[in-house]
Amino acid sequence: MASTLQLNLDGFEYEDVYRASQLPLLDARFDAWLAGRDGALRARYRDYRNGGASVGPEESSLLIAVACELEDFLVAAFGVGESRDGLRAAQERDAVVHAFKREFVKRRIRKQRTQPARDFAELDPLIPSRPDADREWSVARFWADAAQAGNDAQLALLEEWLHAACHSDAGRAATSDWVSLALPQTTDYFKLVPVVAVPGEDAGRVEGAAAPRRRDGFDLTDTRPGLRHAMDQVDYCVYCHDHSGDFCSSGFPAKEGEGFRSNPLEVPLSGCPLEERISEAHVLKRDGYTLGALAMIMLDNPLLPATGHRICNDCMKSCIYQKQDPVNIPEIETRILTDVLGWRWGFELYFTLTQWNPLNRARPYRLPYNGRNTLCVGAGPAGFNLAHHLLQEGFGVVIVDGLKIEPLPPELFDASGRPTKPVEDVKDLYQPLDARTNSGFGGVAEYGITVRWDKNFLTLIRLVLERQPAFRVYGGIRLGGTIMLEDVPALGFDHVTLATGAGRPTVLPVRNNMARGMRQASDFLMALQLTGAAKRDSLANLQVRLPAVVIGGGLTSIDTATEVQAYYIRQVEKVLARWEAVGETRAGLFDAYEQGVLDEFLA
Ligand code: SF4
Repeated sequence: MASTLQLNLDGFEYEDVYRASQLPLLDARFDAWLAGRDGALRARYRDYRNGGASVGPEESSLLIAVACELEDFLVAAFGVGESRDGLRAAQERDAVVHAFKREFVKRRIRKQRTQPARDFAELDPLIPSRPDADREWSVARFWADAAQAGNDAQLALLEEWLHAACHSDAGRAATSDWVSLALPQTTDYFKLVPVVAVPGEDAGRVEGAAAPRRRDGFDLTDTRPGLRHAMDQVDYCVYCHDHSGDFCSSGFPAKEGEGFRSNPLEVPLSGCPLEERISEAHVLKRDGYTLGALAMIMLDNPLLPATGHRICNDCMKSCIYQKQDPVNIPEIETRILTDVLGWRWGFELYFTLTQWNPLNRARPYRLPYNGRNTLCVGAGPAGFNLAHHLLQEGFGVVIVDGLKIEPLPPELFDASGRPTKPVEDVKDLYQPLDARTNSGFGGVAEYGITVRWDKNFLTLIRLVLERQPAFRVYGGIRLGGTIMLEDVPALGFDHVTLATGAGRPTVLPVRNNMARGMRQASDFLMALQLTGAAKRDSLANLQVRLPAVVIGGGLTSIDTATEVQAYYIRQVEKVLARWEAVGETRAGLFDAYEQGVLDEFLA
C-alpha cells in the first residue's frame, strides 16, 4: 500500500478530499477544465447546475457528455491513463466478437438448414486459430476478415460451421462458454429455472438441467463473468433513454391508467428503486468511458458495492425485453465498479466520487459538518446508506448495532488516526471469504447472504464511511437495552433513525421446533455466518447431519440446501482433524448418542 498519492491538480491535494471545505475547490478545478475543453458544453452544464430545466433525453445527453469529461479530468488528476487505456484496449479488442454475434450469428442462425453436410469435427479445423487469441476471438476475426474482403466462399464455410456448432453435441460442447453463440432465450415465467427429471426416480424428483457446479468450502462461489460477457450484455441493451423508454430505470408503465404493468407472475414492474441511470451508464461503458459510467451510476446509487450482481434485479424485471432474456443489468453495474476498482488507485477514484460528483447537481459535494448529530440504529444496508446521505448533508452520524463490530485492519490507518491511507491496489483490501473475519458491519449483507456474494464489498463501504470525520460506528449496543431512547439527547444526539430491518426474526409456530434434529433455516444460516463455524480454526458449535430435509422453496431454503451440504463436509473435516490431534485422550467422554455421531463423522 503506497503512503502518498500526488494529484495533478493545482492547489488541491489528496488529503483535501477529506475536507468538506476544500471540495468546492475541486469542483472549480473541474469547471475550469470543462471550460478549457468545450466552452459550449460548459455553458450548458453551468445552466443545468444553476437549476436550468433539463429533463429526459436532453438531460441524459448532457450528463453523458459531462461524464466523459469528468473521466478525462479524473484520469489526468490521478495519473491513471495507463489503467484506463489498458481497459479500453481490452474492450476494443473484443469488439470484433460482439460484431460477429450481432452481424453474422444472429442473422445466419435463423436461416433454416438441414443437417450440415459435414460434421463439426471436419469443419472446425478449416477455421484457423490465432496463436495469440482464444478460439472464439479467432473465429470472429476470421468472419471480420472474410466480410471485409467480400470472400463469399469463406462466409459460406463459416455459416456451415455455425450450424454445426449450434446443432451438434460436439459443436455445442466446444463453444459452450462463447458469448457470441449464446442467443437470448424465450422467457417462460413458470419455468424460470430449467429442470429435468432425475433418472430412475418414481417420486417425481427434478434437478437442474445445467451441469452441476462443484462446491468445495466457503470461498466465493461466483467470481462473476468476465469483461467479454459483461460487454455482450452492454451490446444487447438498446439504450432506451433517448426516447424515455428506459423502463429498467423508471418502471414499465401500465397500458391503461396509472401505475406499473405486472409480469405474468404478478410482480409489478416498478424498475430500479433508485431510478439509476442505467441506459446512460451502458452507453458510457460501450464507448470506453468506464469511470464516467461509474460516476453516472453513483449519481443515484453512490454505495453500489452493496447492489448489483447477486443482490438485486428489479431493473432486469422491468427491461423492455419481456418475452426473452432481459439485459443482465446487475452484472454490468458490478463490472463497471470492479473495472474501475481494478485500476491503480481505483478505490481512491471511487471514494473521491462518493465525496464529489459533479453529475449530481442536487448535492455535488459533501457539506461541512453542521453541528447536528444523528444516532442511526442498525449497520445494515438501510443504516449505512442513510448514514452516507446524512454525512453528505453535513450531519454527524453514529451507527450502533447489536452485533460485535470488529475494528478495521490497522494497516489502513495513518497518523490522523482515521483509515485515510491511500489505497493503491484494491486487492489489499480483500480477503478470501473462506478466511475472512465476519466484521459485524453490514447487517443482513454480512450474515444473511452466502458466499455467492463477495462480502469484501462491505469493507469498501465501511471504509467510505469511516474515512469521514463526522462518522463513528460502535458494535454491541442495542437501543432499548444498552442505551435507552430517553438517554439519547443527553448523549449529544439531535435525532434517532431506526434502520433495524423490516421485522423481528421469524419463529415459526411449529411444535417441537427446538427438538434435536430440527432447526429453522434462517437460524441455521445466521449461526453459520455469524459464528464463523465453517472456518477451519473456529470452535463454534454447530452440528448438522445428513440427509437433511429442507422445507420451503424460497431463497432461505435454497441457501440452506447449498450451505448445509458444504458445511457438512467442512464439519467432518474439522472433526477428523481434531480427533487426530486429541481424540484418543478424549475417548470415553462421550455418551452413546455422541459416540454414534462421532463414529458417523469419522467413518
Ligand atoms: S436495460 Fe433494457 S430497458 Fe434498460 S435501456 Fe437497456 S434494453 Fe432498455
